[in-house]
Amino acid sequence: LRSRQGPHLRLAGGGAGIINFCANNYLGLSSHPEVIRAAVEALEKFGAGLSSVRFICGTQSIHKDLEEKIARFHQREDAILYASCFDANAGIFEALLTPEDAVLSDELNHASIIDGIRLCKANKYRYKHMDMQDLEAKLKEAQKHRLRLVATDGAFSMDGDIAPLREICQLAQKYDALVFIDECHATGFLGPNGRGTDELLGVMDKVTIINSTLGKALGGAAGGYTTGPKPLIDLLRQRSRPYLFSNSLPPAVVGCASKALDLLMESNAIAQSMAAKTQRFRSKMTAAGFTISGKDHPICPVMLGDARLASVMAEDMLNRGIYVIGFSYPVVPKGKARIRVQISAVHSDEDIDRCVEAFTEVGRKHGAL
Ligand code: PLP
Repeated sequence: LRSRQGPHLRLAGGGAGIINFCANNYLGLSSHPEVIRAAVEALEKFGAGLSSVRFICGTQSIHKDLEEKIARFHQREDAILYASCFDANAGIFEALLTPEDAVLSDELNHASIIDGIRLCKANKYRYKHMDMQDLEAKLKEAQKHRLRLVATDGAFSMDGDIAPLREICQLAQKYDALVFIDECHATGFLGPNGRGTDELLGVMDKVTIINSTLGKALGGAAGGYTTGPKPLIDLLRQRSRPYLFSNSLPPAVVGCASKALDLLMESNAIAQSMAAKTQRFRSKMTAAGFTISGKDHPICPVMLGDARLASVMAEDMLNRGIYVIGFSYPVVPKGKARIRVQISAVHSDEDIDRCVEAFTEVGRKHGAL
């Protein structure tokens, strides 16, 4: 890319006016003028970086302010910042769970959850994707352990599907388990006020732990966090290795995220605009004859099946000025190749319509329609 992240790109190969449909920039805040200004102000006032981890001399007032703001946004007691959500996921399971405990994880959870679980010594159960019967069976089996933690992505990034959190929380209550969700593809835009999957499904008071990223909808710079009960956050500050042994978030990055949260707490107009555009894309593509996986989520996987078809169609879309990426095995299961389209609040209706038109042309040319 030779331009800022946004709906319209200039590419290194000379392509200009390319419409971007493959960023996690769901709310279009990555290049929002107020977000950029907040980063510049934080950079000037607080410097380029801390040259320190948080607990030595790497905590500035803005780090504490952002943690407080994140907790308020999610209506939780406290929050802790990490350099990334990958780090937040790598740091939580080992700090929280002992060999006497159990963790129950959806088989399609993000790689960072899988790695985080690998690092802990708890007993590991993997349940079939969003399969509540299987989760219940595993919870029964796990009754023999001291503590049970169910871990799931709130929204799954390859399929745009949303975890059945109401049912998960009911099972967790029945079998005395805690619920952890990764909200990277939900924070800022799912639910009436963009709080995430737990708000969307009415279980904000039942999900105990949330991990999420500052690197997608919330300004897109970098950073991750855990938010939840204060004793848990206190424990992570004492024990979580990626927090203890990695440099503090740079001030400019903190400035971006903080401003993004301000914008979202002032109004949910941006999230609503994204939802309307998602609806436009999904309904027009379905009417054109495509199968779009998931429901109401800005991740709109155009299901094609064949890996080569996904790859040549994505290439042809770029020739028509639409930037999308094809995914095939091993990133997704064999025979389930797709082109993943991601909608942003800053796409215009015309951008969406151009994307649908290009898909229709390319789909006809390659026999996908
Ligand atoms: N969890 C999920 C579900 C993600 O999609 C990602 C990013 O791809 C991460 C965690 C890692 O987030 P970060 O980029 O902040 O490390």
